[in-house]
Amino acid sequence: MSSPMPRARKPVIAGNWKMYKTQQEARDFFAALKPLVAAAGHCEIIVAPPFTAIGVSAEAVRGTAIAIAAQDVYWANEGAFTGEVSPRMLVEAGCRAVIIAHSERRQFFGETNESANRKVKAVLAAGLTPILCVGELLAEREAGETQKVLEQQLRGSLAALTTAEFSRIIVAYEPVWAIGTGRTATPEIAAEAHQFVRNLSARLFTAEDANSLRILYGGSVKPENIKGLMAQTEIDGALVGGASLDARQFATIVNY
Ligand code: PEP
Repeated sequence: MSSPMPRARKPVIAGNWKMYKTQQEARDFFAALKPLVAAAGHCEIIVAPPFTAIGVSAEAVRGTAIAIAAQDVYWANEGAFTGEVSPRMLVEAGCRAVIIAHSERRQFFGETNESANRKVKAVLAAGLTPILCVGELLAEREAGETQKVLEQQLRGSLAALTTAEFSRIIVAYEPVWAIGTGRTATPEIAAEAHQFVRNLSARLFTAEDANSLRILYGGSVKPENIKGLMAQTEIDGALVGGASLDARQFATIVNY
């Protein structure tokens, strides 16, 4: 493992398993991952299993520095909302964070900036860390609309947050054209978007909060490209999909 340079913001390497892994597969994954990342004090490690594997995953990482996240949430505490899971249920199951508004939720399940905003607030109220995903489609990038899209997503999803609440969130910049496609944004393209997110955050909240905000890059992050991405001071970590399913690959990314 290399020894990364000290950074202003503690990096976060988060894995999003999407709809992969049974409970037994989750146990096997953590048994393999734990020794490989035991010495990784330079970053926070988060893994987001599907709902059914959250309990066994939380049990498997007990006593380690690995935190468990959910991939989605509903904003009410309880109620007649068939199929949904509330923030306090996630807390009880052992979650510490929640991915909100992943592009697959936006694309396939009707997530909007308004619903994302309700989820961010509910998650914060439950004491969990929201990992808010933003990112443009390929057509939007090609039309020169990346910043406009990011601004709409951030303004909508962060509406009416106090600065104290904002200081507890993590943002993941995930250009949709780079997710699961093997096509990574160059470190420069990612850093430019991150800079935009940070500058906008300073306008919406305070310069100090914007400066402390962790902005993760997501989109085909692999062991081969993590070093180049993390060499950008604007990139505070990664949200990893496919490569987070393999303990060795994920550990290599954590130990970039
Ligand atoms: C993701 O699921 O957020 C993601 C970035 O996926 P992948 O790393 O597979 O592109």
